[in-house]
Amino acid sequence: TVVTRFAPSPTGFLHIGGARTALFNWLYARAKGGKMLLRIEDTDRARSTDEAVKAIIEGLEWMGLAADEPPVSQFQRADRHREVVEEMLAKGAAYRCYASQAELDEMREKAKAEKRPPRYDGRWRDRDPSEAPAGVAPVIRLRAPLDGETVVEDEVQGTVRFPNKDLDDLVLLRSDGSPTYMLAVVVDDHDMGVTHIIRGDDHLTNAGRQTLIYRALGWDVPVMAHIPLIHGPDGAKLSKRHGALGVEAYREMGYLPVALRNYLVRLGWAHGDEEIISTEKMVEWFDLPQINKGAARFDFKKLEAINGHWIRQSDDEDLVAMLMDSRDVLPNGAVLKGESDETVRAKLTEAMPGLKERAKTLVELADGAAFLFAARPLAMEEKAEAILADGGRKIVADLLPLFAAAEEWRAEALEAIVRGYAESAEIKLGKAAQPLRAALTGRTTSPGVFDVLAVLGRDESLARLGDQSH
Ligand code: GLU
Repeated sequence: TVVTRFAPSPTGFLHIGGARTALFNWLYARAKGGKMLLRIEDTDRARSTDEAVKAIIEGLEWMGLAADEPPVSQFQRADRHREVVEEMLAKGAAYRCYASQAELDEMREKAKAEKRPPRYDGRWRDRDPSEAPAGVAPVIRLRAPLDGETVVEDEVQGTVRFPNKDLDDLVLLRSDGSPTYMLAVVVDDHDMGVTHIIRGDDHLTNAGRQTLIYRALGWDVPVMAHIPLIHGPDGAKLSKRHGALGVEAYREMGYLPVALRNYLVRLGWAHGDEEIISTEKMVEWFDLPQINKGAARFDFKKLEAINGHWIRQSDDEDLVAMLMDSRDVLPNGAVLKGESDETVRAKLTEAMPGLKERAKTLVELADGAAFLFAARPLAMEEKAEAILADGGRKIVADLLPLFAAAEEWRAEALEAIVRGYAESAEIKLGKAAQPLRAALTGRTTSPGVFDVLAVLGRDESLARLGDQSH
């Protein structure tokens, strides 16, 4: 069965590029009825933090991409890594190298002078260990093939060939006994039963070196798929301004997980011309051959449009729950306040059908809902004030007694009152609706004004209209 893995280094939050890599691994596992594992690559002790581990796990959960098993810590597995290197030494697949720093520097200088990439010259490959200098702790190197080539059959990049003369005898264990990243990844992927490695194409050269380690150990090489990185709209490396942020920043901006999954899957993968793809459809359609070879460009406008689509598609109750849950996260979440959570929930639920048509993010949704909870007298936006000042207050004053006499406080009944008034005053319905909206919301955009009246209720509506009738 298929086993994929996401293997972030916990040196920061869950980055948007990492989230896409996780998504592809999660989707492939789901599509094939397998599982996705999480490995925390925390061997860099100086840069790895528990906070980052927490942020990654929470970020994945929020994205709906939680791993199928508890995370594996790479650092905790160092004994196992050393054990594998012992086996390699025993069968001659690795050797101890006592080259000093000065010697390594010399090799590097020489390569530089000859304008070729630096490589270790293999000077301890065949030397007798009895020649080892006293008191020097060796590193352990892979005895890599000297000629021929190492071929990576990549599901995205195609056949990638590495001449073995370019892949030198890489270090497996440092002189302090700590395993190198290159070794740890191979041992962990093997022990975790990983069948498919899906990761950023910045790891493609590592794939050549890791293949050498698999071969030396006699292990099967997993299927590899190196996916192009995400670039900015200008084609350059993704910058913060253009979206290189942690997923929690996307949460704060009011994006829905379902929309982020939809947007991220389209960044580098396609199913025909489909732009709007539900997660169920992704699972049904996802496969590696449709991953693009070229770098994808991040585009906030597109993400926003997709997010707006998923807001309109979402159930009202789900949106209300999401808004309530994100009150501490959204920059304007504090506007959603009331006597109790129950009243806030009730008002939001009533207004949601009108609100969700206008919002592209949860921030906009909260903003659109703010009028429901605003304190009287309402703060007026400039345009709303202008409408009231320009004859609007007279219309509000005319309508106030008609509303006060309304038998039922329902949108249709209230609309009939306004229509009757507009007819007798010989003005267009919109002419009457505009000042009403301004007085009721302090704005010039809102859900339909009759819905606004209904949602606010009789007392609050009459009070707000009263505030603006003179
Ligand atoms: N830890 C690596 C990274 O964060 C990923 C390594 C891998 O997927 O093999 O870039």
